[in-house]
Amino acid sequence: MKIVHSVREINSLSKKWKKKGYKVSLVPTMGCLHEGHLSLMRKAKSVTDKTIVSLFVNSKQFGPNEDLDSYPRQFQADCSLAEGEGVDALFCPEPEEIYPENFQTSINVTLLSQGMCGKDRPVHFGGVATVVTKLFNITIPDVAVFGKKDFQQLVLVRQLTKDLNYNIEIIGAPIFREKDGLAMSSRNRYLDDAGRRTALCLSQAIHAAKELVKGRQDVAANTVIEKTKEIVDNAGGKLDYAVVVNEFNLIPDKFVNKHSVLALAVKIGDSIRLIDNSKLMMAS
Ligand code: AMP
Repeated sequence: MKIVHSVREINSLSKKWKKKGYKVSLVPTMGCLHEGHLSLMRKAKSVTDKTIVSLFVNSKQFGPNEDLDSYPRQFQADCSLAEGEGVDALFCPEPEEIYPENFQTSINVTLLSQGMCGKDRPVHFGGVATVVTKLFNITIPDVAVFGKKDFQQLVLVRQLTKDLNYNIEIIGAPIFREKDGLAMSSRNRYLDDAGRRTALCLSQAIHAAKELVKGRQDVAANTVIEKTKEIVDNAGGKLDYAVVVNEFNLIPDKFVNKHSVLALAVKIGDSIRLIDNSKLMMAS
């Protein structure tokens, strides 16, 4: 596996591969890799000839009071994990390689950035859209794989790809979960034992919502949201939001239908915020 720090080098590597007729995939990550990330790499490898994984903690997607400085980092372990998956190149630029002095451009996917996680994190999705755009331009992939775990991000990336005419296939990979249902996340390592137990309320709420819906189209979204609130409250979590929205455009649904997604964010303790989501009428 090549470890590449410079924009120029990864760009020429990708161009060289494409000249040879290889199909190239990109898996963007912020490192601290876990099985969820690895499942994305496996997917990428299964559909292309060469896979690039980017490992970049993107300062622009963190607000001033968020966890940029304390975001977990484990470079050596990440290299071994990516190598173990047969990744062809790990692109791990220094911050100034991506945002040199006097960098001043930002990409905003306006409407999709506003609700849900965007409500409390006003700079987050602008930062995501900007870095994803740069990574697409730098690595010129044919395919990019993102996790459904970050549902709003996936919808936004699809929109960005369409709006900016990128000829890139966006693949949404299923959420990888712990045995007990907790969606894997780099932030799970912040949880103490009690927090870890409370954190189960996200997947439990999703399970309960699916049970409530049981494949019917006529269930009011509010009933699902109330049930979610109840489960999160009872577990001692603090619900940031719970919404039932359309899987393609994030517009709230009044009644559950086959494109409805329940998405929620829950604060565990003072500082750990976890997200989860699922389609309500079929496994996703
Ligand atoms: P991150 O490093 O948290 O920015 O995540 C990088 C990519 O991994 C994003 O596309 C995430 O949606 C995806 N990802 C994170 N956790 C999971 C998970 N548990 N299952 C599937 N994909 C995930």
